[in-house]
Amino acid sequence: MKVGIPAESGAGERRIAVVPDGVRQLREKGADVLVESGAGHGALHTDKAYADAGATILSDPAALWAESDALLKIQPPLIHAKLGRHEAELLREGSILVCMLRPFSNLDTVRILAERRITSFSMDAIPRTTRAQRMDALSSMATAAGYKAVLLAAAAAPRFFPMLVTAAGTLAPSRVLVVGAGVAGLQAIATARRLGAVVEGYDIRPAVKEEVESLGATFVGPKLSAEEAQDASGYARELTPEARAKAQDLLLARIPQADVVITTARVPGLPAPKLIPAESVAKMKPGSVIVDLAADMGGNCALTEPGKEIVRHEVTILGPVRLAATLPAHASQMYSRNITSFFFLLLKNGALALDFEDDIVRDTCITHEGRVVHTPTRERLESQAGAGAGTTRGAS
Ligand code: NAD
Repeated sequence: MKVGIPAESGAGERRIAVVPDGVRQLREKGADVLVESGAGHGALHTDKAYADAGATILSDPAALWAESDALLKIQPPLIHAKLGRHEAELLREGSILVCMLRPFSNLDTVRILAERRITSFSMDAIPRTTRAQRMDALSSMATAAGYKAVLLAAAAAPRFFPMLVTAAGTLAPSRVLVVGAGVAGLQAIATARRLGAVVEGYDIRPAVKEEVESLGATFVGPKLSAEEAQDASGYARELTPEARAKAQDLLLARIPQADVVITTARVPGLPAPKLIPAESVAKMKPGSVIVDLAADMGGNCALTEPGKEIVRHEVTILGPVRLAATLPAHASQMYSRNITSFFFLLLKNGALALDFEDDIVRDTCITHEGRVVHTPTRERLESQAGAGAGTTRGAS
């Protein structure tokens, strides 16, 4: 069995799906590992480190894509940076692809994968269960993004984060409001606290109150019931108009008090909820900073421009995308552990053996034997076909 690790395509992408340690583990499981020459460069892993771990280095990317029985990567198939062809068309028919496919945002790619009889697995569809924790790439990347968002905010802010008592006087600490206390938000809260800011955490899910408070921040969420705020799997749900009004009033009252707002709010499968209207930005103090981590899904702030830093009403608004890629060494190390742990589920005695009785394998599989087997994705494709329109949108 040949497992391919290609160089990633996509602007600003410096991560690699599997680090040399992961190659060693794949070799121990009996796989031959092919790595594209230079693929680890951005994450500070040389070809020699991969060769020492037992990989074969290939300088021809087309050969790597065509020869691999299974290809492990991060980004969904894009237009290949060197070959100029859609990567979904470079895969060998019938082979396996594991990546952050984000199928809802990449329906055209899913269609190509099905047509080419690729068995594809989406790392962002891994269930959030205890057994799957080692494979939870969403949490890994959200951890990196939440941390880095605070550093970006601190660099853009005109004030210190900590309180400082100096010979030149006492400087008040910055007030940071983190909107959305999931994995990214909690990491942002922890990082802002470490930098000495006074931090508030806001979320519609009452379940996160304790976690926010255990990090030394104040919880300022609305008083919604668990049923109003979250679905059976613990994710936030779209709020009813009444619940939304209650939640929104509370948030809008907190925003003008903050020097820094970091937003991370998402509802799976939907555009990001718009929580900060332009009028609220106008009410912030001059020099305040917003970092919108939901920029790739349309943004939590009405003024966010994905991938850009802009100034509106004297407030700096950052809409970073692929923030985890700006920490390529640690993000790759975490992702490598996630993807190899998942891939080992697909093996038996060193050979590929797909067990669709396993809930993690079943829930993560998007296309198989020429069909779209992931029900929510198939429904989206059907409704798209009904509407006669096609869209694709960005990735992790
Ligand atoms: P996410 O990225 O889907 O959303 C980020 C946060 O935005 C969430 O906390 C959500 O409640 C919040 N949000 C959504 N709409 C909002 C609104 N209108 N206003 C304010 N906040 C809003 O979340 P995530 O970080 O991927 O985590 C999702 C869930 O999965 C959480 O319950 C988390 O605890 C759970 N989880 C479980 C495991 C595990 O058990 N292995 C691992 C990771 C996460």
